Amino acid sequence: MSDNKPLTAKERMSKPRNEMPLFDAKERILNFNEVPVGFSMEQAQNEASRCIQCKKPECIQGCPVGINIPAFLKLVESGDVAGAAQKIRETNFLPAACGRVCPQDKQCEAVCIVGKKYDPVGIGNLERFVADYEREHNLPRQPKISPSTGKKVAIIGSGPAGLTCAYELRIRGHDVTVFEAFHRGGGVMVYGIPRFRLPLQIIDEDLKFLEEMGVKFVYNMIIGNILTLDELMEDEGFDAVFIGTGAGLPKMLGIPGENLNGVYSANEYLTRIYLMHANEFPDYTTPLFQGKKMGVIGAGNTAMDVMRTGIRLGADVTCYYRRSRDEAPARTEELEHAEQEFINFKWLSSPLEFIGNENNFVTGIKCAVMELSEPDDSGRRRPVPTGEEFIDEVDTVVFSLGCDVNPVIPNATNDLRVNKWGVIMVDETTCHTSKAGVFAGGDAVTGGSTVILAMGQAKNAAKHIHEYLAGRFDYKLDVPTDPEAPGIQWSFAKRKG
Ligand SMILES: Cc1cc2nc3c(=O)[nH]c(=O)nc-3n(C[C@H](O)[C@H](O)[C@H](O)COP(=O)(O)OP(=O)(O)OC[C@H]3O[C@@H](n4cnc5c(N)ncnc54)[C@H](O)[C@@H]3O)c2cc1C
Repeated sequence: MSDNKPLTAKERMSKPRNEMPLFDAKERILNFNEVPVGFSMEQAQNEASRCIQCKKPECIQGCPVGINIPAFLKLVESGDVAGAAQKIRETNFLPAACGRVCPQDKQCEAVCIVGKKYDPVGIGNLERFVADYEREHNLPRQPKISPSTGKKVAIIGSGPAGLTCAYELRIRGHDVTVFEAFHRGGGVMVYGIPRFRLPLQIIDEDLKFLEEMGVKFVYNMIIGNILTLDELMEDEGFDAVFIGTGAGLPKMLGIPGENLNGVYSANEYLTRIYLMHANEFPDYTTPLFQGKKMGVIGAGNTAMDVMRTGIRLGADVTCYYRRSRDEAPARTEELEHAEQEFINFKWLSSPLEFIGNENNFVTGIKCAVMELSEPDDSGRRRPVPTGEEFIDEVDTVVFSLGCDVNPVIPNATNDLRVNKWGVIMVDETTCHTSKAGVFAGGDAVTGGSTVILAMGQAKNAAKHIHEYLAGRFDYKLDVPTDPEAPGIQWSFAKRKG
Protein backbone atom coordinates (compact mmCIF):
# COMPACT_ATOMS: atom_id res chain seq x y z
CA MET A 1 0.00 0.00 0.00
CA SER A 2 1.44 3.38 -0.94
CA ASP A 3 1.44 6.11 1.75
CA ASN A 4 -1.11 8.21 -0.11
CA LYS A 5 -3.62 5.48 -0.81
CA PRO A 6 -6.66 5.78 1.47
CA LEU A 7 -7.05 2.97 3.97
CA THR A 8 -9.78 0.46 3.35
CA ALA A 9 -12.39 -0.13 6.07
CA LYS A 10 -10.82 -3.52 6.79
CA GLU A 11 -7.36 -1.98 7.13
CA ARG A 12 -8.72 0.64 9.51
CA MET A 13 -10.68 -1.81 11.65
CA SER A 14 -7.92 -4.36 11.97
CA LYS A 15 -5.35 -1.90 13.29
CA PRO A 16 -4.69 -2.67 16.94
CA ARG A 17 -6.37 -0.32 19.40
CA ASN A 18 -4.01 2.25 20.99
CA GLU A 19 -4.43 1.81 24.73
CA MET A 20 -3.75 4.86 26.85
CA PRO A 21 -0.55 4.36 28.85
CA LEU A 22 -0.79 4.56 32.66
CA PHE A 23 1.74 5.67 35.25
CA ASP A 24 3.24 2.78 37.20
CA ALA A 25 1.07 1.69 40.16
CA LYS A 26 3.98 1.78 42.65
CA GLU A 27 4.65 5.41 41.75
CA ARG A 28 1.10 6.61 41.36
CA ILE A 29 -0.10 5.57 44.82
CA LEU A 30 2.42 8.03 46.26
CA ASN A 31 0.51 11.04 44.93
CA PHE A 32 -2.86 12.28 43.61
CA ASN A 33 -1.66 12.92 40.05
CA GLU A 34 -3.71 11.66 37.16
CA VAL A 35 -3.16 7.97 36.41
CA PRO A 36 -3.46 7.82 32.56
CA VAL A 37 -0.59 9.52 30.74
CA GLY A 38 -2.62 10.79 27.75
CA PHE A 39 -2.17 10.23 24.01
CA SER A 40 0.56 11.76 21.88
CA MET A 41 -0.57 13.39 18.62
CA GLU A 42 0.66 10.35 16.73
CA GLN A 43 -1.23 7.90 18.96
CA ALA A 44 -4.38 10.00 18.70
CA GLN A 45 -4.24 10.18 14.89
CA ASN A 46 -3.54 6.50 14.69
CA GLU A 47 -6.45 5.64 16.98
CA ALA A 48 -8.81 8.02 15.16
CA SER A 49 -7.88 6.35 11.88
CA ARG A 50 -9.51 3.14 13.16
CA CYS A 51 -12.94 4.76 12.68
CA ILE A 52 -14.58 3.57 9.45
CA GLN A 53 -16.98 6.54 9.19
CA CYS A 54 -20.10 4.37 9.20
CA LYS A 55 -23.05 5.57 7.15
CA LYS A 56 -25.35 5.03 10.12
CA PRO A 57 -23.08 5.76 13.08
CA GLU A 58 -24.54 4.11 16.15
CA CYS A 59 -21.96 5.76 18.39
CA ILE A 60 -23.83 9.08 18.11
CA GLN A 61 -26.99 7.39 19.39
CA GLY A 62 -24.90 5.83 22.15
CA CYS A 63 -23.80 9.25 23.41
CA PRO A 64 -26.38 10.83 25.74
CA VAL A 65 -25.45 14.31 24.44
CA GLY A 66 -25.24 13.17 20.82
CA ILE A 67 -21.65 14.17 19.95
CA ASN A 68 -20.95 13.80 16.22
CA ILE A 69 -18.25 11.24 16.94
CA PRO A 70 -17.27 10.20 13.38
CA ALA A 71 -16.89 13.88 12.40
CA PHE A 72 -14.58 14.72 15.29
CA LEU A 73 -12.56 11.53 14.77
CA LYS A 74 -12.06 12.40 11.10
CA LEU A 75 -10.77 15.83 12.10
CA VAL A 76 -8.34 14.27 14.60
CA GLU A 77 -7.11 11.85 11.98
CA SER A 78 -6.41 14.76 9.63
CA GLY A 79 -4.53 16.61 12.38
CA ASP A 80 -7.15 19.35 12.78
CA VAL A 81 -7.54 19.06 16.55
CA ALA A 82 -8.91 22.59 16.87
CA GLY A 83 -11.68 21.64 14.44
CA ALA A 84 -12.32 18.47 16.40
CA ALA A 85 -12.65 20.51 19.60
CA GLN A 86 -15.20 22.79 17.96
CA LYS A 87 -17.14 19.80 16.68
CA ILE A 88 -17.34 18.25 20.16
CA ARG A 89 -18.29 21.57 21.71
CA GLU A 90 -21.34 21.81 19.47
CA THR A 91 -23.01 19.35 21.83
CA ASN A 92 -20.82 18.76 24.89
CA PHE A 93 -19.95 21.49 27.38
CA LEU A 94 -17.63 19.30 29.52
CA PRO A 95 -15.53 17.16 27.13
CA ALA A 96 -12.39 17.01 29.28
CA ALA A 97 -14.43 15.61 32.16
CA CYS A 98 -16.50 13.28 29.97
CA GLY A 99 -13.43 11.95 28.14
CA ARG A 100 -12.12 10.89 31.53
CA VAL A 101 -15.11 9.65 33.49
CA CYS A 102 -17.84 8.56 31.07
CA PRO A 103 -18.62 4.84 30.98
CA GLN A 104 -17.82 4.70 27.24
CA ASP A 105 -17.67 0.91 27.44
CA LYS A 106 -21.43 0.98 28.09
CA GLN A 107 -22.28 3.86 25.74
CA CYS A 108 -20.61 5.06 22.53
CA GLU A 109 -17.90 2.38 22.46
CA ALA A 110 -20.40 -0.35 23.32
CA VAL A 111 -22.22 0.25 20.02
CA CYS A 112 -19.17 1.11 17.86
CA ILE A 113 -19.46 -0.96 14.68
CA VAL A 114 -15.71 -1.67 14.66
CA GLY A 115 -16.20 -3.25 18.08
CA LYS A 116 -18.46 -5.94 16.62
CA LYS A 117 -15.41 -7.77 15.28
CA TYR A 118 -12.39 -5.89 16.65
CA ASP A 119 -11.73 -3.64 19.65
CA PRO A 120 -13.98 -0.54 19.50
CA VAL A 121 -12.43 2.80 18.62
CA GLY A 122 -11.09 4.54 21.76
CA ILE A 123 -13.63 7.36 21.60
CA GLY A 124 -13.31 8.40 25.24
CA ASN A 125 -9.53 8.64 25.12
CA LEU A 126 -9.77 10.69 21.93
CA GLU A 127 -12.33 13.05 23.44
CA ARG A 128 -9.97 13.55 26.35
CA PHE A 129 -7.04 14.13 23.96
CA VAL A 130 -8.94 16.80 22.02
CA ALA A 131 -10.17 18.60 25.14
CA ASP A 132 -6.67 18.59 26.67
CA TYR A 133 -5.13 19.84 23.43
CA GLU A 134 -7.67 22.67 23.35
CA ARG A 135 -6.87 23.64 26.94
CA GLU A 136 -3.10 23.26 26.68
CA HIS A 137 -2.98 25.32 23.47
CA ASN A 138 -5.36 27.97 24.81
CA LEU A 139 -7.61 27.53 21.80
CA PRO A 140 -10.42 30.09 21.94
CA ARG A 141 -13.88 28.91 22.94
CA GLN A 142 -16.28 31.36 21.43
CA PRO A 143 -19.84 30.54 22.30
CA LYS A 144 -22.42 32.53 20.38
CA ILE A 145 -24.62 34.16 23.01
CA SER A 146 -28.03 35.29 21.78
CA PRO A 147 -29.24 38.80 22.62
CA SER A 148 -30.72 39.20 26.10
CA THR A 149 -34.24 37.87 26.55
CA GLY A 150 -34.70 39.71 29.85
CA LYS A 151 -35.68 36.43 31.51
CA LYS A 152 -34.06 35.25 34.76
CA VAL A 153 -33.39 31.59 35.48
CA ALA A 154 -32.21 30.11 38.77
CA ILE A 155 -30.16 26.93 38.62
CA ILE A 156 -29.90 25.04 41.90
CA GLY A 157 -26.72 22.99 42.17
CA SER A 158 -23.44 23.33 40.28
CA GLY A 159 -22.79 19.70 39.32
CA PRO A 160 -22.69 18.61 35.67
CA ALA A 161 -26.49 18.97 35.39
CA GLY A 162 -26.56 22.52 36.78
CA LEU A 163 -23.51 23.69 34.81
CA THR A 164 -24.80 22.26 31.54
CA CYS A 165 -28.22 23.79 32.03
CA ALA A 166 -26.58 27.14 32.90
CA TYR A 167 -24.49 27.03 29.71
CA GLU A 168 -27.38 26.06 27.47
CA LEU A 169 -29.64 28.79 28.83
CA ARG A 170 -26.96 31.47 28.79
CA ILE A 171 -26.22 30.91 25.10
CA ARG A 172 -29.95 31.31 24.49
CA GLY A 173 -29.69 34.81 25.97
CA HIS A 174 -31.13 34.29 29.46
CA ASP A 175 -29.85 35.82 32.68
CA VAL A 176 -28.62 32.79 34.64
CA THR A 177 -27.70 32.49 38.33
CA VAL A 178 -26.38 29.25 39.85
CA PHE A 179 -27.07 28.71 43.56
CA GLU A 180 -24.72 26.22 45.23
CA ALA A 181 -24.84 24.92 48.80
CA PHE A 182 -21.05 24.49 49.06
CA HIS A 183 -18.38 27.18 48.88
CA ARG A 184 -17.30 26.17 45.39
CA GLY A 185 -18.76 24.73 42.20
CA GLY A 186 -18.48 21.44 40.33
CA GLY A 187 -20.66 19.08 42.40
CA VAL A 188 -19.51 15.48 42.61
CA MET A 189 -16.91 16.14 39.90
CA VAL A 190 -15.05 18.11 42.60
CA TYR A 191 -15.97 16.52 45.92
CA GLY A 192 -16.49 12.89 44.87
CA ILE A 193 -14.47 11.89 41.82
CA PRO A 194 -10.81 11.86 42.91
CA ARG A 195 -8.15 14.14 41.45
CA PHE A 196 -6.20 11.17 40.08
CA ARG A 197 -9.17 10.56 37.74
CA LEU A 198 -10.33 14.13 37.14
CA PRO A 199 -7.92 16.98 37.93
CA LEU A 200 -9.46 19.99 39.63
CA GLN A 201 -8.00 22.44 37.12
CA ILE A 202 -10.31 21.04 34.43
CA ILE A 203 -13.49 21.83 36.34
CA ASP A 204 -12.18 25.20 37.48
CA GLU A 205 -11.55 26.26 33.91
CA ASP A 206 -15.10 25.31 32.94
CA LEU A 207 -16.47 27.29 35.89
CA LYS A 208 -14.34 30.30 34.91
CA PHE A 209 -15.55 30.01 31.33
CA LEU A 210 -19.18 30.11 32.47
CA GLU A 211 -18.45 33.17 34.60
CA GLU A 212 -16.86 34.87 31.61
CA MET A 213 -20.02 34.12 29.65
CA GLY A 214 -21.96 36.05 32.28
CA VAL A 215 -23.35 33.21 34.42
CA LYS A 216 -23.53 34.33 38.07
CA PHE A 217 -22.64 32.01 40.95
CA VAL A 218 -23.95 32.33 44.49
CA TYR A 219 -22.12 29.96 46.85
CA ASN A 220 -22.93 28.86 50.41
CA MET A 221 -26.60 29.09 49.52
CA ILE A 222 -28.78 26.13 50.47
CA ILE A 223 -32.04 26.46 48.60
CA GLY A 224 -34.88 25.03 50.67
CA ASN A 225 -33.14 26.26 53.77
CA ILE A 226 -31.75 29.80 53.42
CA LEU A 227 -34.11 30.68 50.56
CA THR A 228 -37.07 28.59 49.38
CA LEU A 229 -38.05 27.83 45.81
CA ASP A 230 -41.15 29.99 46.25
CA GLU A 231 -39.05 32.91 47.47
CA LEU A 232 -36.74 32.55 44.46
CA MET A 233 -39.71 32.83 42.11
CA GLU A 234 -41.97 35.24 43.97
CA ASP A 235 -39.51 37.58 45.75
CA GLU A 236 -36.29 37.28 43.74
CA GLY A 237 -38.01 37.49 40.37
CA PHE A 238 -36.78 34.29 38.73
CA ASP A 239 -38.98 33.31 35.80
CA ALA A 240 -37.96 29.63 35.86
CA VAL A 241 -35.92 27.28 38.02
CA PHE A 242 -33.84 24.19 37.27
CA ILE A 243 -33.17 21.79 40.15
CA GLY A 244 -29.89 19.91 39.69
CA THR A 245 -29.16 19.07 43.29
CA GLY A 246 -27.90 15.53 42.76
CA ALA A 247 -28.25 12.54 45.04
CA GLY A 248 -26.00 13.15 48.00
CA LEU A 249 -27.77 11.38 50.84
CA PRO A 250 -25.84 8.19 51.70
CA LYS A 251 -27.67 4.91 52.13
CA MET A 252 -26.79 3.37 55.49
CA LEU A 253 -25.94 -0.24 56.26
CA GLY A 254 -28.18 -0.58 59.31
CA ILE A 255 -25.81 -2.83 61.26
CA PRO A 256 -24.46 -2.42 64.82
CA GLY A 257 -21.45 -0.12 65.17
CA GLU A 258 -22.32 2.12 62.24
CA ASN A 259 -22.03 5.22 64.44
CA LEU A 260 -18.58 4.42 65.84
CA ASN A 261 -15.79 6.96 65.37
CA GLY A 262 -13.78 6.13 62.29
CA VAL A 263 -16.81 4.85 60.33
CA TYR A 264 -17.71 7.09 57.39
CA SER A 265 -20.02 7.05 54.43
CA ALA A 266 -18.15 7.29 51.11
CA ASN A 267 -19.66 10.73 50.54
CA GLU A 268 -18.47 12.09 53.84
CA TYR A 269 -15.00 10.58 53.47
CA LEU A 270 -14.45 11.88 49.93
CA THR A 271 -16.01 15.29 50.63
CA ARG A 272 -13.80 15.80 53.67
CA ILE A 273 -10.74 15.07 51.55
CA TYR A 274 -11.49 16.58 48.16
CA LEU A 275 -13.65 19.56 49.16
CA MET A 276 -12.44 20.29 52.69
CA HIS A 277 -8.75 19.23 52.31
CA ALA A 278 -8.79 17.02 55.43
CA ASN A 279 -5.62 15.31 54.18
CA GLU A 280 -3.76 18.63 54.30
CA PHE A 281 -3.82 19.03 58.06
CA PRO A 282 -2.66 21.37 59.66
CA ASP A 283 -2.96 23.77 56.68
CA TYR A 284 -6.66 22.90 56.77
CA THR A 285 -8.43 21.99 60.00
CA THR A 286 -11.10 19.59 58.67
CA PRO A 287 -11.01 16.55 60.97
CA LEU A 288 -10.67 13.06 59.48
CA PHE A 289 -9.53 9.95 61.26
CA GLN A 290 -7.47 8.28 58.53
CA GLY A 291 -6.25 5.01 59.99
CA LYS A 292 -3.68 2.51 58.77
CA LYS A 293 -6.03 -0.44 58.30
CA MET A 294 -9.01 0.62 56.29
CA GLY A 295 -12.02 -1.50 55.40
CA VAL A 296 -14.27 -0.42 52.53
CA ILE A 297 -17.75 -1.90 52.14
CA GLY A 298 -19.05 -2.19 48.56
CA ALA A 299 -17.48 -2.75 45.14
CA GLY A 300 -18.98 -0.04 42.94
CA ASN A 301 -17.12 2.84 41.30
CA THR A 302 -17.41 5.02 44.39
CA ALA A 303 -15.94 2.27 46.56
CA MET A 304 -12.99 2.02 44.13
CA ASP A 305 -12.46 5.78 44.46
CA VAL A 306 -12.51 5.53 48.25
CA MET A 307 -10.04 2.63 48.29
CA ARG A 308 -7.65 4.27 45.87
CA THR A 309 -7.81 7.46 47.94
CA GLY A 310 -7.14 5.53 51.17
CA ILE A 311 -4.07 3.83 49.77
CA ARG A 312 -2.70 7.21 48.67
CA LEU A 313 -3.11 8.37 52.27
CA GLY A 314 -0.96 5.50 53.50
CA ALA A 315 -3.60 2.94 54.57
CA ASP A 316 -3.58 -0.77 53.97
CA VAL A 317 -6.99 -1.12 52.28
CA THR A 318 -9.35 -4.10 52.09
CA CYS A 319 -12.61 -4.25 50.16
CA TYR A 320 -15.49 -6.33 51.57
CA TYR A 321 -18.20 -7.30 49.10
CA ARG A 322 -20.96 -9.85 49.58
CA ARG A 323 -20.90 -11.19 46.02
CA SER A 324 -17.96 -12.27 43.86
CA ARG A 325 -15.69 -10.24 41.57
CA ASP A 326 -17.89 -11.11 38.58
CA GLU A 327 -20.87 -9.31 40.12
CA ALA A 328 -18.94 -6.23 41.28
CA PRO A 329 -20.78 -3.17 39.93
CA ALA A 330 -17.61 -1.13 39.30
CA ARG A 331 -16.45 -0.57 35.75
CA THR A 332 -13.84 -3.20 34.80
CA GLU A 333 -11.24 -0.49 34.28
CA GLU A 334 -11.82 0.97 37.76
CA LEU A 335 -11.61 -2.46 39.34
CA GLU A 336 -8.41 -3.27 37.48
CA HIS A 337 -6.83 0.02 38.50
CA ALA A 338 -7.70 -0.70 42.13
CA GLU A 339 -6.23 -4.20 41.86
CA GLN A 340 -3.05 -2.80 40.33
CA GLU A 341 -2.84 -0.41 43.26
CA PHE A 342 -2.49 -3.18 45.85
CA ILE A 343 -6.02 -3.10 47.29
CA ASN A 344 -6.99 -6.39 48.99
CA PHE A 345 -10.35 -7.83 48.02
CA LYS A 346 -12.39 -10.10 50.27
CA TRP A 347 -15.14 -11.25 47.94
CA LEU A 348 -18.17 -13.07 49.36
CA SER A 349 -17.85 -11.22 52.69
CA SER A 350 -20.90 -9.49 54.11
CA PRO A 351 -20.40 -7.15 57.09
CA LEU A 352 -22.49 -8.05 60.15
CA GLU A 353 -21.14 -5.61 62.71
CA PHE A 354 -18.44 -3.03 63.38
CA ILE A 355 -16.68 -3.59 66.67
CA GLY A 356 -15.52 -0.64 68.81
CA ASN A 357 -13.24 0.00 71.79
CA GLU A 358 -14.08 1.74 75.09
CA ASN A 359 -13.61 5.15 73.41
CA ASN A 360 -16.09 4.28 70.69
CA PHE A 361 -13.49 4.03 67.94
CA VAL A 362 -13.89 1.26 65.42
CA THR A 363 -11.37 -1.59 65.88
CA GLY A 364 -12.84 -4.47 63.94
CA ILE A 365 -15.26 -5.65 61.30
CA LYS A 366 -17.22 -8.89 61.64
CA CYS A 367 -18.30 -10.51 58.38
CA ALA A 368 -20.36 -13.48 57.28
CA VAL A 369 -18.78 -15.64 54.60
CA MET A 370 -21.22 -15.92 51.70
CA GLU A 371 -21.74 -18.19 48.72
CA LEU A 372 -23.71 -17.55 45.55
CA SER A 373 -27.04 -19.22 44.86
CA GLU A 374 -29.72 -18.60 42.18
CA PRO A 375 -29.89 -15.27 40.29
CA ASP A 376 -32.11 -12.60 41.92
CA ASP A 377 -34.29 -9.91 40.25
CA SER A 378 -31.18 -8.02 39.13
CA GLY A 379 -30.03 -11.14 37.26
CA ARG A 380 -26.99 -11.47 39.53
CA ARG A 381 -26.49 -14.57 41.65
CA ARG A 382 -27.83 -14.03 45.16
CA PRO A 383 -25.36 -14.22 48.03
CA VAL A 384 -26.38 -16.48 50.94
CA PRO A 385 -24.50 -17.03 54.23
CA THR A 386 -22.45 -20.21 54.59
CA GLY A 387 -22.64 -20.02 58.40
CA GLU A 388 -18.94 -19.17 58.66
CA GLU A 389 -17.85 -15.79 60.10
CA PHE A 390 -14.58 -13.91 60.55
CA ILE A 391 -13.34 -10.75 62.26
CA ASP A 392 -10.70 -8.44 60.75
CA GLU A 393 -8.86 -5.68 62.57
CA VAL A 394 -9.57 -2.21 61.12
CA ASP A 395 -9.22 1.35 62.38
CA THR A 396 -11.18 3.10 59.61
CA VAL A 397 -14.29 1.92 57.76
CA VAL A 398 -15.94 3.55 54.77
CA PHE A 399 -19.21 2.22 53.42
CA SER A 400 -20.29 2.83 49.85
CA LEU A 401 -23.81 1.57 49.21
CA GLY A 402 -25.20 4.28 46.96
CA CYS A 403 -27.06 7.49 47.67
CA ASP A 404 -30.59 8.86 47.80
CA VAL A 405 -31.86 12.31 46.83
CA ASN A 406 -31.52 14.95 49.52
CA PRO A 407 -35.01 15.92 50.77
CA VAL A 408 -34.22 19.58 51.68
CA ILE A 409 -35.90 21.19 48.66
CA PRO A 410 -38.91 18.82 48.39
CA ASN A 411 -39.53 19.19 52.14
CA ALA A 412 -39.62 22.96 51.81
CA THR A 413 -41.80 23.03 48.68
CA ASN A 414 -45.44 21.99 48.96
CA ASP A 415 -46.22 21.38 45.31
CA LEU A 416 -43.03 19.56 44.27
CA ARG A 417 -43.92 15.91 43.77
CA VAL A 418 -41.40 13.18 44.74
CA ASN A 419 -41.77 9.40 44.55
CA LYS A 420 -41.53 7.09 47.54
CA TRP A 421 -37.74 7.00 47.23
CA GLY A 422 -37.58 10.80 47.37
CA VAL A 423 -36.69 11.20 43.67
CA ILE A 424 -38.09 14.42 42.12
CA MET A 425 -40.76 13.43 39.59
CA VAL A 426 -40.65 15.06 36.18
CA ASP A 427 -42.40 14.85 32.86
CA GLU A 428 -40.02 12.62 30.93
CA THR A 429 -40.23 14.64 27.73
CA THR A 430 -39.77 18.13 29.11
CA CYS A 431 -38.14 17.63 32.55
CA HIS A 432 -40.88 19.85 33.99
CA THR A 433 -41.75 19.03 37.62
CA SER A 434 -45.20 19.19 39.19
CA LYS A 435 -44.53 22.87 40.08
CA ALA A 436 -45.12 25.46 37.36
CA GLY A 437 -41.92 26.85 35.89
CA VAL A 438 -39.72 24.43 37.82
CA PHE A 439 -37.68 21.84 35.92
CA ALA A 440 -35.26 19.22 37.21
CA GLY A 441 -32.58 16.86 35.92
CA GLY A 442 -29.53 14.81 36.80
CA ASP A 443 -29.20 12.57 39.83
CA ALA A 444 -32.04 14.45 41.56
CA VAL A 445 -34.48 12.79 39.13
CA THR A 446 -32.69 9.52 38.38
CA GLY A 447 -31.01 8.72 41.68
CA GLY A 448 -27.21 8.18 41.50
CA SER A 449 -26.29 7.94 37.81
CA THR A 450 -23.54 9.37 35.59
CA VAL A 451 -22.09 12.72 34.58
CA ILE A 452 -23.16 12.36 30.97
CA LEU A 453 -26.73 11.31 31.76
CA ALA A 454 -27.04 14.29 34.10
CA MET A 455 -25.76 16.49 31.27
CA GLY A 456 -28.11 14.93 28.71
CA GLN A 457 -31.12 15.63 30.89
CA ALA A 458 -29.95 19.15 31.66
CA LYS A 459 -29.63 19.90 27.95
CA ASN A 460 -33.12 18.64 27.40
CA ALA A 461 -34.45 20.62 30.35
CA ALA A 462 -32.74 23.79 29.06
CA LYS A 463 -34.39 23.37 25.68
CA HIS A 464 -37.81 23.18 27.33
CA ILE A 465 -37.10 25.97 29.83
CA HIS A 466 -36.33 28.13 26.82
CA GLU A 467 -39.66 27.18 25.28
CA TYR A 468 -41.40 27.87 28.58
CA LEU A 469 -39.81 31.32 28.84
CA ALA A 470 -40.79 32.11 25.28
CA GLY A 471 -44.41 31.29 26.12
CA ARG A 472 -44.42 28.28 23.82
CA PHE A 473 -44.80 25.69 26.55
CA ASP A 474 -48.15 24.18 25.63
CA TYR A 475 -47.23 20.55 26.14
CA LYS A 476 -49.50 18.25 28.01
CA LEU A 477 -47.61 17.79 31.23
CA ASP A 478 -47.16 14.21 32.25
CA VAL A 479 -45.58 14.18 35.69
CA PRO A 480 -46.19 10.78 37.29
CA THR A 481 -48.53 10.72 40.28
CA ASP A 482 -47.83 7.15 41.41
CA PRO A 483 -45.37 7.34 44.34
CA GLU A 484 -44.12 3.88 43.35
CA ALA A 485 -43.01 5.16 39.93
CA PRO A 486 -39.23 4.86 39.54
CA GLY A 487 -36.95 7.80 38.79
CA ILE A 488 -36.64 8.47 35.09
CA GLN A 489 -34.58 5.97 33.17
CA TRP A 490 -34.26 7.46 29.75
CA SER A 491 -33.36 5.34 26.79
CA PHE A 492 -30.86 6.81 24.34
CA ALA A 493 -33.61 7.31 21.79
CA LYS A 494 -35.73 9.33 24.21
CA ARG A 495 -32.73 11.40 25.27
CA LYS A 496 -32.02 12.22 21.66
CA GLY A 497 -35.36 13.89 21.32
C1 LIG B 1 -17.30 9.04 44.21
C2 LIG B 1 -18.09 9.14 42.95
C3 LIG B 1 -17.51 8.77 41.76
C4 LIG B 1 -18.23 8.87 40.58
N1 LIG B 1 -17.61 8.52 39.42
C5 LIG B 1 -18.27 8.70 38.26
C6 LIG B 1 -17.63 8.40 37.02
O1 LIG B 1 -16.49 7.95 36.98
N2 LIG B 1 -18.32 8.63 35.88
C7 LIG B 1 -19.58 9.13 35.88
O2 LIG B 1 -20.13 9.37 34.81
N3 LIG B 1 -20.23 9.39 37.04
C8 LIG B 1 -19.60 9.18 38.22
N4 LIG B 1 -20.24 9.45 39.39
C9 LIG B 1 -21.64 9.91 39.34
C10 LIG B 1 -21.71 11.37 38.90
O3 LIG B 1 -20.74 12.12 39.57
C11 LIG B 1 -23.09 11.92 39.14
O4 LIG B 1 -24.02 11.12 38.43
C12 LIG B 1 -23.20 13.37 38.66
O5 LIG B 1 -22.28 14.19 39.31
C13 LIG B 1 -24.63 13.89 38.88
O6 LIG B 1 -24.65 15.23 38.51
P1 LIG B 1 -25.70 16.25 39.14
O7 LIG B 1 -25.36 17.58 38.58
O8 LIG B 1 -27.06 15.71 38.99
O9 LIG B 1 -25.41 16.23 40.72
P2 LIG B 1 -24.10 16.57 41.60
O10 LIG B 1 -22.84 16.38 40.85
O11 LIG B 1 -24.30 15.78 42.85
O12 LIG B 1 -24.27 18.09 41.92
C14 LIG B 1 -25.31 18.58 42.72
C15 LIG B 1 -24.90 19.91 43.33
O13 LIG B 1 -26.03 20.50 43.97
C16 LIG B 1 -25.64 21.04 45.21
N5 LIG B 1 -26.82 21.09 46.06
C17 LIG B 1 -27.46 20.03 46.62
N6 LIG B 1 -28.52 20.47 47.33
C18 LIG B 1 -28.55 21.82 47.21
C19 LIG B 1 -29.41 22.83 47.71
N7 LIG B 1 -30.46 22.54 48.47
N8 LIG B 1 -29.14 24.13 47.40
C20 LIG B 1 -28.07 24.44 46.61
N9 LIG B 1 -27.22 23.51 46.13
C21 LIG B 1 -27.46 22.22 46.40
C22 LIG B 1 -24.57 20.08 45.69
O14 LIG B 1 -23.74 20.68 46.68
C23 LIG B 1 -23.83 19.78 44.39
O15 LIG B 1 -22.80 20.70 44.15
C24 LIG B 1 -19.57 9.33 40.60
C25 LIG B 1 -20.18 9.65 41.81
C26 LIG B 1 -19.46 9.56 42.97
C27 LIG B 1 -20.13 9.91 44.29
